Amino acid sequence: MQAIKQLYRIGYGPSSSHTIAPFRMAKLYKQHFPECDSYEVLLGGSLAMTAKGHGTIDIMKKALECDDVRFTFDHDDNENDMFITGFIRGEKTETWHGLSLGGGAIRIREFDAGDDDEVYEENGFDAIKEVLRMRCISLTEYVYEHEPDLKEYLKECLKVMFEAVERGLSTVGLLNKDLNYYRVAKKLYEKASDRKDYLIAYSYATCEENAGGGMMCTAPTLGACGILTSLMYYLHHNENVEMDELCDLLAVAGVFGNCIKKNASIAGSTGGCQAEVGTACSMAAAAIAYKEGFELGTIEYAAEMGIEHFLGLTCDPILGYVIIPCIERNAVSILRAYDCAYLAEQLKDVKGNLISFDSVVHAMNYTGNKLAIELKETSLGGLSLEYKYAKR
Ligand code: SF4
Repeated sequence: MQAIKQLYRIGYGPSSSHTIAPFRMAKLYKQHFPECDSYEVLLGGSLAMTAKGHGTIDIMKKALECDDVRFTFDHDDNENDMFITGFIRGEKTETWHGLSLGGGAIRIREFDAGDDDEVYEENGFDAIKEVLRMRCISLTEYVYEHEPDLKEYLKECLKVMFEAVERGLSTVGLLNKDLNYYRVAKKLYEKASDRKDYLIAYSYATCEENAGGGMMCTAPTLGACGILTSLMYYLHHNENVEMDELCDLLAVAGVFGNCIKKNASIAGSTGGCQAEVGTACSMAAAAIAYKEGFELGTIEYAAEMGIEHFLGLTCDPILGYVIIPCIERNAVSILRAYDCAYLAEQLKDVKGNLISFDSVVHAMNYTGNKLAIELKETSLGGLSLEYKYAKR
């Protein structure tokens, strides 16, 4: 498996696969061909379908530091292809062909972006459990052995997460004209009085900031960034959990997110929203169970449950904006993550879990492959289509 660090990327919202990944590829291209003064960009798959709503065009222009960029779209392409060709005074240079893989990861045919490097030998949770058992080490020891610099990096991520929540809680007004969506996080915060209220307010603050194109941290994607971000903010600001411990929680969550990334997908355009919000719910449930001191089997049970009840969840954002259903769904998911952790603890003494974490990930992959393309971040079906009909 690849580094857990890759699950927590810092970049501009609103979508890791549609803003962070294109931004990274365009930036790398710009660094290699700094003389270019105009560009042609061809986008495929979900990138072509939702480029406007997801802000892909503006973010690529920003990375290329150029307004003279001609965009074309291949709506028949099923992959998230990105082709960039630069020109110097009308003379063509080189074409790079990249792919947006989800969570901001990229693969470029002409250049090694480093996202394919394998850091862990184990490729699933059963194999990881076996290592922990054989060597008598904890989950966090296992992670930090493989990624010694992870904790320092996660502190940077936490800073970005907290700043996003704080901006989101203090900003009001119109977020999106097409959907007539006004920010509500501040209002939610002002009437918050218990854990659920605060988690909801923090989750809305994060997701509204993300939808507004703010600087965010993927966890494991931007569409689902409100879930772990609200949890981290709540634990630090409402329960005084220290930064060191928060890093441990992100590391534990990362183990489960990484297994999903390896054996299914964390991209809505590949696996539907089960891959984004489902994965983040699973990660958060594992982090909560770890924080509560539950045993390893219960942590696994919580993480498994976090996915199991999101299996088949579609990705059909209205008008291609990461707003409806995304923002509300993040709030639903962080509440559910707490329920999963507590339900796992309640159930562990009265019944075993028939479905292992690895099994549910396998089922998730199967389900994602069966989902229709209209329900995988193309805005061609589901809620998106209903909205179009209702508007007629
Ligand atoms: S519906 Fe889910 S997967 Fe799709 S854009 Fe929204 S958060 Fe991401």
